[in-house]
Amino acid sequence: MSPTQSKKRIAVIAGDGIGQEVIPQALKVIRATGADLEITEFDWGADRYLRDGMTVPPDGFAMLARDFDAILAGAFGDPRVKTNIHAKEILLGMRFRMDLYANVRPVRLLDASLCPLKGIEPKDVDFVVIRENTEGVYTDAGGVFKPGTPDEIAIQEDINTRKGVERIIRYAFDYCEQHKKLDGSPRRRVLMCDKSNAMTHAGGLWQRVFKEVSAEFPQIETQHMYVDALCMQMVRDPRSFDVIVTNNMFGDIITDLAAGLQGGLGMAASGNIHPGQTSMFEPVHGSAPPIAGKNLANPFGAILTSAMMLAHLGLTKEAENIEAAVLQAVRQKKTTQDIGGSLGTREAADNIVSLVK
Ligand code: ATP
Repeated sequence: MSPTQSKKRIAVIAGDGIGQEVIPQALKVIRATGADLEITEFDWGADRYLRDGMTVPPDGFAMLARDFDAILAGAFGDPRVKTNIHAKEILLGMRFRMDLYANVRPVRLLDASLCPLKGIEPKDVDFVVIRENTEGVYTDAGGVFKPGTPDEIAIQEDINTRKGVERIIRYAFDYCEQHKKLDGSPRRRVLMCDKSNAMTHAGGLWQRVFKEVSAEFPQIETQHMYVDALCMQMVRDPRSFDVIVTNNMFGDIITDLAAGLQGGLGMAASGNIHPGQTSMFEPVHGSAPPIAGKNLANPFGAILTSAMMLAHLGLTKEAENIEAAVLQAVRQKKTTQDIGGSLGTREAADNIVSLVK
């Protein structure tokens, strides 16, 4: 992306299930901001795969990296594709092949009514989880020996490279240094979450690297928690969290838990980022087959994701405009049913469009 080029080129892959419902709504909203965007939509997903067997065209990832400034993706997963092969090739393909190593998942409570915990206010939940996005158990390394027999052995390997661990931990410290909380106060602390008491080899690497990298940021406090203790703390009192860095699997799990603090999966946004390269933005939720096609899905996760993408592209005013509109809609209960309103997906997004305009 050239800093002088004003029109931002966005690739859009709505994908499957509710992805096909929430992404068009997010597009309506970003268009309403008046941002100078060139939007190109791709039909990669289960329907396309079932039609002609294509998941990603041969040049697909290189084309995304070359021709676009950012990617907005929906969700991938469809009960008709039992192997989920298309989801793996498209979503994990973007993360791995484009080396989008930092999965950034902000956790913000917009209104006290959305949090299932007693006495928790919006100011109490404003943290971010930085999840390693290219390694861990998601590389699918391992194998099965003597499948289908009583002697079957399944091995799932957890890949942790020095390079991968170091760059994600450094990303978390840089993020802490460069990003403020919603109320304008600085971020102060990076917490590393692992299970180094049981997973000693990988945990040992994470522990050593965390210590080394933290020495470069003496002004930032450090903290460590085992993932089990962190889960308990998250539902007991989430106030102390600021920036959390963790591996691929723990990041996946704790961000669903964290989404519960902010109103559920329908409210959570994320970015898959490689600084300086084309990055991909997607709501935290999946394709949610049980509610797909019913105009029930909450579009706010996708809309907040699109705001995150605009902010990443330097369109800060447009991003803030969208976030303010979502906040207002939540306060006015002009929302979908999952967070207490009575609107459908399209109607909830239409209201955001009018607030943004
Ligand atoms: P994946 O493995 O692809 O992340 P998942 O199985 O973890 O998917 P989701 O598809 O994200 O799960 O959703 C689980 C459930 O959460 C859905 O069936 C639905 O009830 C609820 N849910 C998820 N996203 C939304 C949304 N945007 N609006 C309303 N409800 C949602």
